[in-house]
Amino acid sequence: MQDAETLWADFATPIRGAEDYIASLRGRNLNVYFMGERVAEPVDHPVIRPSINAMAETFRLATEQPNLATAHSSISGQKVNRFLHVPAAPGDLVGKHEMQRELGRRTGTCFQRCVGLDAISSCHSVTFDVDAKAGTIYHQRFLAFLKRAQAANVVIGGAMTDPKGDRSKPPHQQSDKDLFLHVTRRDGNGIYVSGAKMHQTGAVNSHWLIFMPTMRMTESDRDWSVVGAVRVDAPGLTYIVGRQTNDTRIMDGGAMDAGNAQFAGQEALIVFENVFVPYEHVFLDGEWAYASSLVERFTTYHRSSYVCKTGLGDVLIGAAATAADYNGVEGASHVKDKLVEMTHLNETIYSSCMAAAHQSKPVASGAYINDEMLSNVAKHNVTRFPYEIARLAQDIAGGLVVTMPSEKDLQNNEVGPLIRKFLQGRDGVEVVDRMRMLRLIENMTIGRNAVGYLTESLHGAGSPQAQRIQIARGMKIEEKKARARHLAGIAKPLD
Ligand code: SF4
Ligand code: FE
Repeated sequence: MQDAETLWADFATPIRGAEDYIASLRGRNLNVYFMGERVAEPVDHPVIRPSINAMAETFRLATEQPNLATAHSSISGQKVNRFLHVPAAPGDLVGKHEMQRELGRRTGTCFQRCVGLDAISSCHSVTFDVDAKAGTIYHQRFLAFLKRAQAANVVIGGAMTDPKGDRSKPPHQQSDKDLFLHVTRRDGNGIYVSGAKMHQTGAVNSHWLIFMPTMRMTESDRDWSVVGAVRVDAPGLTYIVGRQTNDTRIMDGGAMDAGNAQFAGQEALIVFENVFVPYEHVFLDGEWAYASSLVERFTTYHRSSYVCKTGLGDVLIGAAATAADYNGVEGASHVKDKLVEMTHLNETIYSSCMAAAHQSKPVASGAYINDEMLSNVAKHNVTRFPYEIARLAQDIAGGLVVTMPSEKDLQNNEVGPLIRKFLQGRDGVEVVDRMRMLRLIENMTIGRNAVGYLTESLHGAGSPQAQRIQIARGMKIEEKKARARHLAGIAKPLD
């Protein structure tokens, strides 16, 4: 049982850049499992390291382009990494989305840090609302936590998705109470929580986790209506890192077959077993009626955050165009047309995300939040368009994207020369470059980073049906019918 002061003592020196960030992850003795084994040091694990590299780019960008990746926080009065900045004007959300696109371009994968930003942004306003209604002190606790996080420049992970068990039942009716994260006991110093959070982006690469309810709660779900922050190395936490397509190719030797050897995403199952949270880090405890607004605000922020995929789209469009160059078909009209189609789809995602930022509105706490309808439309676009962009990339690349020999064959004295002879494209193109580009397309469309580019685009921040429900709620169909009747000269609506 440690108080907030003690828990923050290790973060007295702020993280200053990418290398500093990577060093800060070492020696934490986390309880991490991957492929049936405990991982002694995630930083040195070849499959986990690319995801750490991707997160590290959020620090590198802040150093290289401070206008893009830092902001002035009125909470601490400091210049802070934009991933720790609660949006206080539409320009903050516009800047956030520009930064996310750039990071997508730099890494070609999920750089993982947006979940924490969207968690702090939504906790900021919901704690404010609860205090205004109930006279609690959650908001000031939250601000104290956030000031410390900003000063230390730590990575905050947002943990929302519970396992949910039987989807037809609320938390208190589940046969196993742990299927939703809940309070197991309270004492004079804080609370203890048990349960799990599923597919948590960048969990092992974070310093702190904010856990939040995953859905609307009922009065009987008070113990499940809990929000708080824990250190990633808190006793009682176990991380089981998810398997990703072709993730172990990086261990085969050589860097080519991985497609993108440097960067990858990370998703983990986090298990909480009676994890202690001091009251200073408890931001909601029992206020079940606010769970739904927390979830709605988080998803509104996070659905627009999927602008990240336009950065990946930029990379994939570039890869497809380069593959066409290497094949000598860059001038073919159907290739040009496919590249235009890919760009149109990519920029359509971008336009809806940016519109959701420009049309953002303030809430009572003073934080700005993306326009809800446009954010849902943006994310709904993301559930579809990357699949079509990926299909067109494979179309342009050709079947070799899935039939190509390995890097080891290329290096083999017997068959290597045969590969160099028969995989030759246009004169002057190195065979190895052609193979590298095709491997990148494979990586993003069916390999490790297709996890982030495709399936995460489908289900992250809510599956397609979740957006359709929100779109249906906000579509104002009666108002639209009235406008149509007016123009058609029909005076009365149907009874
Ligand atoms: Fe950020 Fe995109 Fe990854 Fe979500 S999927 S954490 S929005 S990079
Ligand atoms: Fe996500």
